[in-house]
Amino acid sequence: MNLTHIEHIGIAVKNLQESIKKFENMLGIKCYAIEEVKDQKVKTAFFQIGQNKIELLEGTEPDSTISKFIEKRGEGVHHVALAVNNIEGALQELKEKNIQLIDEKPRLGAEGLHIAFIHPKSAGGVLIELCENKNDK
Ligand code: ZN
Repeated sequence: MNLTHIEHIGIAVKNLQESIKKFENMLGIKCYAIEEVKDQKVKTAFFQIGQNKIELLEGTEPDSTISKFIEKRGEGVHHVALAVNNIEGALQELKEKNIQLIDEKPRLGAEGLHIAFIHPKSAGGVLIELCENKNDK
């Protein structure tokens, strides 16, 4: 699997607008994109830090995975996203290694990235997102 960098760190928040203000004030940088991903019932906000990003996520429905996460564990780090060059190949490799996946096939995430999640059970309790940017290929 050809990993290139940590794409972003996803942080679950209760109120996106309030959290954007908090992070803008704390980091001294502006959120550059807000996007709703209907498929995942989330609203996201992005901050660019070098080639990496912070993604804030708010659930838009009570049954959103983000809403459920916050209900159980409160606000906090939700996932770490790793950029790969060939997400289909990476998923195939992981399957062959019997790594437990949440997504067997990539789907579309925020910013038009192709994404797939690895189950935290296989990754030390951390939810890992693989993502590939096919937009600039
Ligand atoms: Zn993410």
